[in-house]
Amino acid sequence: MSGVADQVRAAVAAVTDPELRRPIGDLDMVRDITVDGSTARVSIVLTIVGCPAAQRIEQDVRDAAASVPGISQVAVEVGVMTPDERRALTERLREGRPARQMPFGADSLTRVVLVSSGKGGVGKSTVTANLAVALAGQGLRVGLVDADVHGFSIPGLLGIPAGTQPTRIDDLMLPPVAHDVKTVSIGMFLQEGESVVAWRGPMLHRTVQQFLTDVFFGDLDVLLIDMPPGTGDIAISIGQILPHAEVLVVTTPQHAASEVAIRSGLVARRTGQTVIGVVENMAPYTLPDGTVIDLFGSGGGAEVARALSAPGPHGSDVSEVPLLASIPLSPALRQGGDAGRPIVIDRPDDAAAEAIIELAGALAHRGRRLAGRALPMRLA
Ligand code: ADP
Repeated sequence: MSGVADQVRAAVAAVTDPELRRPIGDLDMVRDITVDGSTARVSIVLTIVGCPAAQRIEQDVRDAAASVPGISQVAVEVGVMTPDERRALTERLREGRPARQMPFGADSLTRVVLVSSGKGGVGKSTVTANLAVALAGQGLRVGLVDADVHGFSIPGLLGIPAGTQPTRIDDLMLPPVAHDVKTVSIGMFLQEGESVVAWRGPMLHRTVQQFLTDVFFGDLDVLLIDMPPGTGDIAISIGQILPHAEVLVVTTPQHAASEVAIRSGLVARRTGQTVIGVVENMAPYTLPDGTVIDLFGSGGGAEVARALSAPGPHGSDVSEVPLLASIPLSPALRQGGDAGRPIVIDRPDDAAAEAIIELAGALAHRGRRLAGRALPMRLA
């Protein structure tokens, strides 16, 4: 092979598959490369016919080959892997982990944080989406599961186009990635017109378990789960499937909201989960002229934290539950949510974004309890 062909191969091999997020050389997708004068012919194979990322990969391969000095024309031929090649690829992506095993069990190094609330409309999903992006911004490998069956709002909040599905390579399901967060919504797995809300307990339980098993997140530092509000079947199922999960309780400052938030925190604790903190959202905000807008009053977050720090009815030992953040009302937070542009990226100077970024910092530096030891989270 000529030196130029070697250079073309190296350039092409470094192109990243946008879904698998690895160089295509590592994924065994590069085939023959020939150079004839100033023309390079490059042949690559993709995982499946009509792979959604195909056009982008083809263009990136073309650009990479054309960047090699002496190459002015590039012909790209795109083929498809054989079933055997695909099997080898999925095995490699699993990194030796067996298929069909729920990866977030008690011995997993991934920290699982459930974000729950007593009732809907307190901004739980908005906070969760921004928190996930802020954690990823701090170098953590973050997964986000939208289990809020009443809304499925996470994909929209992160700007993932409606109808986006995980990429399937045989039985391997890879979550879409938005702002460096691997994101799946149970809504992506429903048939048209189907509603999870109508499902009965055992069906829900099976689905949640299957979902956590079949979606391949790879190694994660933290998995956030946007829970449905309240203490329904999903909350109980997830409590059973992930008993070592930690719980963040989101509330507004309003007394009525804090009462139900306390109840949801107590139920989580009863399933063995640890409530690691309270997040108050829609707290008072100050206008540039100094006027304070306190639509929902103040003090609810501290009230929930206090109540969840109290010992249980049988004197059981409960560690302190801190108020981890107080996020002010913010027009930018709402607008960013509507537009699918998280404000922790778009408007990091907004007071609500600052509070969420600070919350992410507090979480990232808080070790989780594993077999009685505090483990720091891995900062990449
Ligand atoms: P939940 O998940 O608790 O049902 P959402 O995240 O869907 O709540 O938020 C409900 C509405 O409140 C959304 O329109 C969202 O944009 C808005 N919202 C959330 N937090 C704030 C805030 N701090 N300031 C202003 N609007 C907010």
